Amino acid sequence: MLELGFDMPSMVIDINVFRTASRIFGEKWSDNLNFSDNKQIEQVKSRIEHCLPNDYLIFQIVHTMLLLQGKHICKAKTKCEKCIITEHCSCYINNFDKKDNMKVENILR
Ligand code: SF4
Repeated sequence: MLELGFDMPSMVIDINVFRTASRIFGEKWSDNLNFSDNKQIEQVKSRIEHCLPNDYLIFQIVHTMLLLQGKHICKAKTKCEKCIITEHCSCYINNFDKKDNMKVENILR
């Protein structure tokens, strides 16, 4: 509401943004997401907001990108093989095994 209705820089955390950002940041709960845990949501929100300039338009763009990423690629069962940000994703980097490039998918279910 703040972001979309009043043009204020406040990141909207829906389930897609939460899941994708948790994995990109390599949050310890990435493989056991709990969207009903306010602490997890607040931490993800804070981490995203601290990465961005204080500009509501950038917040809207980043929110939309994370939402689409979560909806189409970084789903509950990931499609890491189609992802173009693997080199920026902590979860992928920490779990990638060259002998078994499906390992991340196996972990993140
Ligand atoms: S590399 Fe995989 S886990 Fe990371 S953002 Fe892309 S799809 Fe999600």
